[in-house]
Amino acid sequence: MLPLSLYIHIPFCASKCAYCDFASFPNREGEWARYFEALWAELESWRSALRDREIATAFIGGGTPTLVPAANIVETLARARALARFAPDAEITVEGNPGTLTAEKLAACRAAGVNRLSLGAQSFDGGLLKSLGRVHAAAQIGEAVGMARDAGFTNINLDLMYALPGQTMAQWRATLDAAIALGVPHISAYSLIVEDGTPMAARVASGAVALPEDEAVNAMQREAVARLARAGYERYEISNYAKPGYACRHNLVYWNRGEYLGLGCAAHSLVRDERFSNPDALEEYLSGVRRIDAQRLTQADAMEETLMLATRTARGLDMNAWRETFGAPFERGREGTLKGLERGGFIELEDGFLRLTLRGMEVQNAVVLELLEALT
Ligand code: SF4
Repeated sequence: MLPLSLYIHIPFCASKCAYCDFASFPNREGEWARYFEALWAELESWRSALRDREIATAFIGGGTPTLVPAANIVETLARARALARFAPDAEITVEGNPGTLTAEKLAACRAAGVNRLSLGAQSFDGGLLKSLGRVHAAAQIGEAVGMARDAGFTNINLDLMYALPGQTMAQWRATLDAAIALGVPHISAYSLIVEDGTPMAARVASGAVALPEDEAVNAMQREAVARLARAGYERYEISNYAKPGYACRHNLVYWNRGEYLGLGCAAHSLVRDERFSNPDALEEYLSGVRRIDAQRLTQADAMEETLMLATRTARGLDMNAWRETFGAPFERGREGTLKGLERGGFIELEDGFLRLTLRGMEVQNAVVLELLEALT
Protein backbone atom coordinates (compact mmCIF):
# COMPACT_ATOMS: atom_id res chain seq x y z
CA MET A 1 0.00 0.00 0.00
CA LEU A 2 1.27 3.44 -0.86
CA PRO A 3 1.90 5.59 2.21
CA LEU A 4 -0.01 8.82 2.56
CA SER A 5 -0.03 11.48 5.25
CA LEU A 6 -3.11 13.34 6.37
CA TYR A 7 -3.27 16.96 7.47
CA ILE A 8 -6.53 18.10 9.06
CA HIS A 9 -7.03 21.80 9.76
CA ILE A 10 -9.12 23.06 12.66
CA PRO A 11 -9.34 26.82 12.06
CA PHE A 12 -10.61 28.03 15.44
CA CYS A 13 -8.76 29.94 18.14
CA ALA A 14 -9.63 31.57 21.46
CA SER A 15 -8.40 34.92 20.10
CA LYS A 16 -6.15 36.15 17.31
CA CYS A 17 -2.44 36.52 18.08
CA ALA A 18 -0.81 39.77 16.98
CA TYR A 19 1.48 38.15 14.41
CA CYS A 20 -0.86 35.49 13.02
CA ASP A 21 -1.96 35.32 9.40
CA PHE A 22 -2.95 31.65 9.46
CA ALA A 23 -6.50 30.61 8.67
CA SER A 24 -7.71 30.83 12.25
CA PHE A 25 -10.90 32.41 13.49
CA PRO A 26 -11.81 33.44 17.04
CA ASN A 27 -15.39 33.79 18.32
CA ARG A 28 -16.89 31.31 15.84
CA GLU A 29 -18.25 28.74 18.29
CA GLY A 30 -21.53 28.92 16.38
CA GLU A 31 -19.81 27.50 13.28
CA TRP A 32 -18.00 24.58 14.92
CA ALA A 33 -20.69 21.97 14.28
CA ARG A 34 -21.17 23.10 10.66
CA TYR A 35 -17.42 23.02 10.14
CA PHE A 36 -17.04 19.44 11.30
CA GLU A 37 -19.97 18.34 9.12
CA ALA A 38 -18.19 19.94 6.13
CA LEU A 39 -14.87 18.38 7.11
CA TRP A 40 -16.39 14.93 7.42
CA ALA A 41 -18.14 15.33 4.07
CA GLU A 42 -14.82 16.28 2.51
CA LEU A 43 -13.17 13.24 4.07
CA GLU A 44 -15.95 11.03 2.69
CA SER A 45 -15.40 12.50 -0.80
CA TRP A 46 -11.94 10.90 -0.76
CA ARG A 47 -13.31 7.43 0.05
CA SER A 48 -12.22 5.67 -3.15
CA ALA A 49 -8.82 7.41 -3.28
CA LEU A 50 -8.09 6.43 0.33
CA ARG A 51 -9.03 2.78 -0.09
CA ASP A 52 -5.58 1.59 -1.20
CA ARG A 53 -3.52 3.98 0.93
CA GLU A 54 -1.84 3.44 4.27
CA ILE A 55 -1.79 6.44 6.57
CA ALA A 56 1.75 6.76 7.88
CA THR A 57 1.25 10.04 9.73
CA ALA A 58 -1.64 12.32 10.55
CA PHE A 59 -1.44 15.86 11.87
CA ILE A 60 -4.41 17.72 13.28
CA GLY A 61 -3.31 21.35 13.23
CA GLY A 62 -4.74 24.78 13.39
CA GLY A 63 -5.82 27.08 14.66
CA THR A 64 -6.17 25.47 18.04
CA PRO A 65 -7.53 21.91 17.76
CA THR A 66 -7.56 21.59 21.55
CA LEU A 67 -10.10 24.43 21.74
CA VAL A 68 -12.96 22.43 20.22
CA PRO A 69 -14.65 19.53 22.06
CA ALA A 70 -12.43 16.45 21.96
CA ALA A 71 -15.41 14.46 20.66
CA ASN A 72 -14.97 16.27 17.33
CA ILE A 73 -11.32 15.22 17.07
CA VAL A 74 -12.15 11.66 18.12
CA GLU A 75 -14.97 11.44 15.55
CA THR A 76 -12.73 12.86 12.80
CA LEU A 77 -10.07 10.22 13.47
CA ALA A 78 -12.68 7.44 13.65
CA ARG A 79 -14.08 8.49 10.26
CA ALA A 80 -10.57 8.63 8.75
CA ARG A 81 -9.82 5.15 10.10
CA ALA A 82 -13.02 3.85 8.54
CA LEU A 83 -11.80 4.98 5.12
CA ALA A 84 -8.07 4.26 5.19
CA ARG A 85 -5.81 1.81 6.95
CA PHE A 86 -3.62 3.51 9.53
CA ALA A 87 -0.14 1.98 9.89
CA PRO A 88 0.22 0.26 13.27
CA ASP A 89 2.98 2.73 14.16
CA ALA A 90 1.28 5.77 12.59
CA GLU A 91 2.40 9.05 14.14
CA ILE A 92 -0.74 11.01 15.03
CA THR A 93 -0.18 14.56 16.23
CA VAL A 94 -2.61 17.05 17.68
CA GLU A 95 -1.61 20.68 17.98
CA GLY A 96 -2.77 22.66 20.97
CA ASN A 97 -2.18 25.64 23.14
CA PRO A 98 -1.50 25.76 26.85
CA GLY A 99 -4.62 27.09 28.48
CA THR A 100 -6.97 25.16 26.19
CA LEU A 101 -6.09 21.67 27.47
CA THR A 102 -8.07 19.67 29.97
CA ALA A 103 -7.34 16.23 31.38
CA GLU A 104 -10.55 14.98 29.72
CA LYS A 105 -9.61 16.29 26.28
CA LEU A 106 -6.12 14.82 26.51
CA ALA A 107 -7.41 11.44 27.69
CA ALA A 108 -9.96 11.33 24.86
CA CYS A 109 -7.31 12.16 22.24
CA ARG A 110 -4.93 9.58 23.67
CA ALA A 111 -7.64 6.91 23.66
CA ALA A 112 -8.34 7.75 20.00
CA GLY A 113 -4.72 6.94 19.13
CA VAL A 114 -3.18 10.41 19.22
CA ASN A 115 0.44 9.80 20.24
CA ARG A 116 2.12 13.17 19.73
CA LEU A 117 1.23 16.57 21.13
CA SER A 118 2.58 19.84 19.74
CA LEU A 119 2.14 22.81 22.06
CA GLY A 120 2.36 26.46 21.05
CA ALA A 121 4.45 27.71 23.98
CA GLN A 122 6.28 30.51 22.08
CA SER A 123 7.95 32.09 25.11
CA PHE A 124 8.35 31.65 28.85
CA ASP A 125 8.45 35.43 29.31
CA GLY A 126 5.10 36.80 30.46
CA GLY A 127 5.66 40.24 28.90
CA LEU A 128 6.56 38.79 25.50
CA LEU A 129 3.59 36.40 25.59
CA LYS A 130 1.36 39.41 26.21
CA SER A 131 2.88 41.43 23.38
CA LEU A 132 2.33 38.48 21.04
CA GLY A 133 -1.32 38.35 22.06
CA ARG A 134 -1.06 34.81 23.38
CA VAL A 135 -3.85 33.77 25.72
CA HIS A 136 -1.72 31.67 28.05
CA ALA A 137 0.62 32.58 30.88
CA ALA A 138 4.15 31.20 31.09
CA ALA A 139 3.28 28.99 34.06
CA GLN A 140 0.60 27.23 32.01
CA ILE A 141 3.21 25.74 29.67
CA GLY A 142 4.67 23.50 32.37
CA GLU A 143 1.17 22.68 33.59
CA ALA A 144 0.17 21.65 30.04
CA VAL A 145 3.21 19.39 29.69
CA GLY A 146 2.43 17.81 33.07
CA MET A 147 -1.19 17.21 32.08
CA ALA A 148 -0.09 15.70 28.78
CA ARG A 149 2.28 13.33 30.56
CA ASP A 150 -0.43 12.35 33.04
CA ALA A 151 -2.61 11.45 30.04
CA GLY A 152 0.13 9.19 28.70
CA PHE A 153 1.85 11.43 26.14
CA THR A 154 5.62 11.07 25.92
CA ASN A 155 6.16 12.54 22.44
CA ILE A 156 5.64 16.24 23.12
CA ASN A 157 6.83 19.26 21.13
CA LEU A 158 7.08 22.86 22.28
CA ASP A 159 7.01 25.63 19.64
CA LEU A 160 9.17 28.62 20.58
CA MET A 161 9.67 31.99 18.87
CA TYR A 162 12.64 34.32 18.66
CA ALA A 163 13.51 37.58 16.89
CA LEU A 164 10.58 39.19 18.70
CA PRO A 165 10.40 42.98 19.09
CA GLY A 166 12.17 43.92 22.31
CA GLN A 167 13.34 40.38 23.03
CA THR A 168 16.77 40.23 24.62
CA MET A 169 19.28 37.41 24.29
CA ALA A 170 18.87 36.81 28.04
CA GLN A 171 15.12 36.32 27.59
CA TRP A 172 15.69 33.93 24.69
CA ARG A 173 18.22 31.91 26.69
CA ALA A 174 15.80 31.72 29.61
CA THR A 175 13.02 30.47 27.30
CA LEU A 176 15.29 27.81 25.78
CA ASP A 177 16.41 26.71 29.25
CA ALA A 178 12.84 26.53 30.54
CA ALA A 179 11.80 24.38 27.57
CA ILE A 180 14.82 22.11 28.03
CA ALA A 181 14.10 21.82 31.76
CA LEU A 182 10.65 20.43 30.98
CA GLY A 183 12.38 17.49 29.30
CA VAL A 184 10.20 17.39 26.19
CA PRO A 185 11.84 15.41 23.38
CA HIS A 186 11.12 17.92 20.57
CA ILE A 187 11.50 21.69 20.32
CA SER A 188 10.73 23.90 17.32
CA ALA A 189 12.31 27.36 17.31
CA TYR A 190 10.87 29.76 14.75
CA SER A 191 12.03 33.23 13.90
CA LEU A 192 9.14 35.73 13.91
CA ILE A 193 8.01 36.56 10.37
CA VAL A 194 6.06 39.81 10.26
CA GLU A 195 3.17 39.18 7.88
CA ASP A 196 1.39 42.02 6.08
CA GLY A 197 -1.98 42.95 7.48
CA THR A 198 -1.33 41.73 11.01
CA PRO A 199 -1.40 43.99 14.10
CA MET A 200 2.32 43.20 14.51
CA ALA A 201 3.05 44.59 11.02
CA ALA A 202 1.14 47.78 11.89
CA ARG A 203 3.14 48.18 15.13
CA VAL A 204 6.40 47.76 13.26
CA ALA A 205 5.34 50.15 10.48
CA SER A 206 4.29 52.83 12.98
CA GLY A 207 7.59 52.53 14.85
CA ALA A 208 5.82 51.46 18.04
CA VAL A 209 8.11 48.42 18.16
CA ALA A 210 11.39 47.61 16.44
CA LEU A 211 12.55 44.30 15.06
CA PRO A 212 16.04 43.03 15.90
CA GLU A 213 18.78 43.42 13.29
CA ASP A 214 19.73 40.41 11.14
CA GLU A 215 22.91 39.87 13.14
CA ALA A 216 20.95 39.66 16.39
CA VAL A 217 18.49 37.23 14.79
CA ASN A 218 21.34 35.00 13.60
CA ALA A 219 22.91 35.14 17.06
CA MET A 220 19.64 33.92 18.59
CA GLN A 221 19.46 31.10 16.08
CA ARG A 222 23.05 30.09 16.85
CA GLU A 223 22.26 30.23 20.57
CA ALA A 224 19.36 27.81 20.03
CA VAL A 225 21.54 25.41 18.03
CA ALA A 226 24.31 25.41 20.66
CA ARG A 227 22.11 25.31 23.77
CA LEU A 228 19.84 22.60 22.41
CA ALA A 229 22.79 20.53 21.16
CA ARG A 230 24.33 20.63 24.65
CA ALA A 231 21.02 19.34 26.01
CA GLY A 232 20.95 16.43 23.54
CA TYR A 233 18.66 17.81 20.83
CA GLU A 234 19.78 17.25 17.25
CA ARG A 235 18.93 19.97 14.77
CA TYR A 236 17.36 17.93 11.98
CA GLU A 237 15.77 20.85 10.13
CA ILE A 238 16.40 24.60 10.14
CA SER A 239 13.82 25.23 12.88
CA ASN A 240 13.43 21.77 14.43
CA TYR A 241 15.36 19.96 17.14
CA ALA A 242 14.75 16.49 18.55
CA LYS A 243 16.16 13.97 20.95
CA PRO A 244 17.14 10.73 19.14
CA GLY A 245 14.09 9.00 17.68
CA TYR A 246 11.75 11.98 18.10
CA ALA A 247 12.05 13.83 14.78
CA CYS A 248 8.54 14.64 13.56
CA ARG A 249 7.78 12.07 10.87
CA HIS A 250 4.86 14.09 9.53
CA ASN A 251 6.96 17.17 8.86
CA LEU A 252 9.68 15.02 7.31
CA VAL A 253 7.07 13.93 4.76
CA TYR A 254 6.75 17.60 3.68
CA TRP A 255 10.50 18.12 3.44
CA ASN A 256 11.00 14.84 1.57
CA ARG A 257 8.12 15.63 -0.81
CA GLY A 258 6.10 12.62 0.25
CA GLU A 259 2.38 12.58 -0.54
CA TYR A 260 -0.10 14.23 1.80
CA LEU A 261 -3.76 15.01 1.68
CA GLY A 262 -4.92 18.19 3.42
CA LEU A 263 -8.51 18.39 4.66
CA GLY A 264 -10.33 21.42 5.97
CA CYS A 265 -10.18 25.14 5.44
CA ALA A 266 -6.83 26.34 3.98
CA ALA A 267 -5.35 22.84 3.92
CA HIS A 268 -2.77 22.09 1.22
CA SER A 269 -2.16 18.76 -0.54
CA LEU A 270 0.45 17.09 -2.67
CA VAL A 271 -0.98 13.97 -4.26
CA ARG A 272 0.52 12.25 -7.30
CA ASP A 273 2.58 15.28 -8.34
CA GLU A 274 -0.38 17.63 -8.10
CA ARG A 275 -0.56 20.44 -5.58
CA PHE A 276 -3.94 21.85 -4.60
CA SER A 277 -5.53 23.55 -1.63
CA ASN A 278 -8.80 24.51 0.00
CA PRO A 279 -9.85 28.14 0.38
CA ASP A 280 -8.51 30.14 3.32
CA ALA A 281 -11.84 31.86 3.93
CA LEU A 282 -14.09 29.95 6.33
CA GLU A 283 -17.30 30.95 4.53
CA GLU A 284 -15.96 29.75 1.21
CA TYR A 285 -14.93 26.42 2.70
CA LEU A 286 -18.30 26.03 4.43
CA SER A 287 -20.09 26.76 1.16
CA GLY A 288 -18.34 23.77 -0.41
CA VAL A 289 -15.45 25.28 -2.42
CA ARG A 290 -12.63 22.71 -2.67
CA ARG A 291 -9.42 22.00 -4.58
CA ILE A 292 -8.48 25.49 -5.72
CA ASP A 293 -5.13 26.47 -7.26
CA ALA A 294 -4.57 22.94 -8.55
CA GLN A 295 -1.21 22.71 -10.22
CA ARG A 296 0.27 19.69 -11.96
CA LEU A 297 3.98 19.91 -11.22
CA THR A 298 6.46 19.90 -14.07
CA GLN A 299 9.89 18.33 -13.69
CA ALA A 300 11.35 21.83 -13.21
CA ASP A 301 8.84 22.48 -10.37
CA ALA A 302 9.71 19.17 -8.74
CA MET A 303 13.45 19.92 -8.99
CA GLU A 304 13.03 23.36 -7.44
CA GLU A 305 10.88 22.00 -4.60
CA THR A 306 13.29 19.14 -3.95
CA LEU A 307 16.22 21.52 -3.63
CA MET A 308 14.30 24.06 -1.54
CA LEU A 309 12.95 21.46 0.90
CA ALA A 310 15.90 19.05 1.18
CA THR A 311 18.37 21.84 1.98
CA ARG A 312 16.26 22.73 5.03
CA THR A 313 17.18 19.38 6.56
CA ALA A 314 20.37 18.24 8.27
CA ARG A 315 20.34 15.16 6.01
CA GLY A 316 20.59 17.45 3.02
CA LEU A 317 20.04 16.82 -0.67
CA ASP A 318 20.67 13.25 -1.78
CA MET A 319 22.45 13.80 -5.08
CA ASN A 320 22.29 10.12 -6.08
CA ALA A 321 18.53 10.12 -5.61
CA TRP A 322 18.40 13.34 -7.64
CA ARG A 323 20.19 11.66 -10.56
CA GLU A 324 17.86 8.68 -10.42
CA THR A 325 14.73 10.81 -10.22
CA PHE A 326 15.61 13.53 -12.72
CA GLY A 327 17.97 11.66 -15.03
CA ALA A 328 20.98 13.97 -14.75
CA PRO A 329 23.64 14.61 -12.10
CA PHE A 330 22.83 17.51 -9.78
CA GLU A 331 26.37 18.83 -10.19
CA ARG A 332 26.15 19.15 -13.99
CA GLY A 333 26.26 22.85 -14.94
CA ARG A 334 26.66 23.85 -11.29
CA GLU A 335 30.31 22.93 -10.76
CA GLY A 336 31.51 26.53 -10.31
CA THR A 337 28.60 27.54 -8.08
CA LEU A 338 29.09 24.50 -5.84
CA LYS A 339 32.81 25.23 -5.48
CA GLY A 340 32.12 28.87 -4.63
CA LEU A 341 29.50 28.00 -2.01
CA GLU A 342 31.76 25.35 -0.50
CA ARG A 343 34.72 27.75 -0.34
CA GLY A 344 32.46 30.39 1.24
CA GLY A 345 31.51 27.95 4.00
CA PHE A 346 27.82 27.77 3.03
CA ILE A 347 27.63 24.12 1.95
CA GLU A 348 29.36 20.80 2.49
CA LEU A 349 29.52 18.04 -0.11
CA GLU A 350 29.99 14.64 1.45
CA ASP A 351 29.05 11.03 0.63
CA GLY A 352 26.77 12.09 -2.21
CA PHE A 353 24.87 14.62 -0.09
CA LEU A 354 24.77 18.41 -0.28
CA ARG A 355 24.26 19.91 3.17
CA LEU A 356 24.01 23.49 4.32
CA THR A 357 26.42 24.50 7.05
CA LEU A 358 25.33 26.51 10.08
CA ARG A 359 26.17 29.64 8.11
CA GLY A 360 24.41 28.33 5.00
CA MET A 361 21.22 27.66 6.98
CA GLU A 362 21.13 31.31 8.03
CA VAL A 363 20.85 32.30 4.36
CA GLN A 364 19.13 29.19 2.99
CA ASN A 365 16.96 31.08 0.49
CA ALA A 366 19.96 32.85 -1.03
CA VAL A 367 21.93 29.59 -1.32
CA VAL A 368 19.00 27.83 -3.01
CA LEU A 369 18.51 30.76 -5.38
CA GLU A 370 22.15 30.65 -6.37
CA LEU A 371 21.95 26.91 -7.04
CA LEU A 372 18.81 27.38 -9.11
CA GLU A 373 20.21 30.30 -11.07
CA ALA A 374 23.34 28.32 -11.88
CA LEU A 375 21.30 26.55 -14.54
CA THR A 376 19.35 29.47 -16.02
S1 SF4 B 1 -2.97 30.33 18.43
FE1 SF4 B 1 -1.79 30.01 16.53
S2 SF4 B 1 -3.32 29.87 14.89
FE2 SF4 B 1 -4.35 30.75 16.71
S3 SF4 B 1 -4.23 32.96 16.41
FE3 SF4 B 1 -2.45 32.37 17.65
S4 SF4 B 1 -0.80 31.97 16.17
FE4 SF4 B 1 -2.73 32.02 15.03
